[in-house]
Amino acid sequence: MRIGIVAVQGAFAEHGKLLEKLNADYIELRKKEDLKTAIDGLILPGGESTVQGKLLRELDMFAPLKAEIQEGLPVLATCAGLILLAEKLSNDDHVYFGTMPVTVRRNAYGRQLGSFHTRGRFAHVGEIPMTFIRAPYIDSVSEDAEILAQVDGHIVGAAYKNQMGISFHPELDCDPRIHQMFLNRI
Ligand code: GLN
Repeated sequence: MRIGIVAVQGAFAEHGKLLEKLNADYIELRKKEDLKTAIDGLILPGGESTVQGKLLRELDMFAPLKAEIQEGLPVLATCAGLILLAEKLSNDDHVYFGTMPVTVRRNAYGRQLGSFHTRGRFAHVGEIPMTFIRAPYIDSVSEDAEILAQVDGHIVGAAYKNQMGISFHPELDCDPRIHQMFLNRI
């Protein structure tokens, strides 16, 4: 099994380190040619969604990645990655892949209080550390999406078919259980 990690901007290297711990093979996707390598799952890392969206378009990676997601490629998206998947943003006119029927609020915790650490329950996994960095949260999910985690009444993790979107950064804590769960789902 091989995982592709989108590596145009943001915290992609940390995902790779966690996958190494789990003995999972991966490739960093930096340019269009990298998409020729067959992958069984995709990771969309945190970072800056506007920059990632722009770079993916400029590098001609946007359309092929969107098509693969629509065709059912399993995706784990964290933070900015979740923003890229969202069908709608409640406080921004952009839509990127738009493949996940959730409404996401960018920088939902404000810019000042934007970064914090907590622990919370994550469905199918248990209690885990959660690091939020200028994070989004999910305002609403469609009926057929599953809520995976909530913090202070806000949805911070959801799944829909092949897609799993998380507000926080599991790759920054040394707890590999979310990634293990993702690999198990593939
Ligand atoms: N604030 C970023 C955005 O809107 C997301 C932050 C992150 O990925 N840690 O894209």
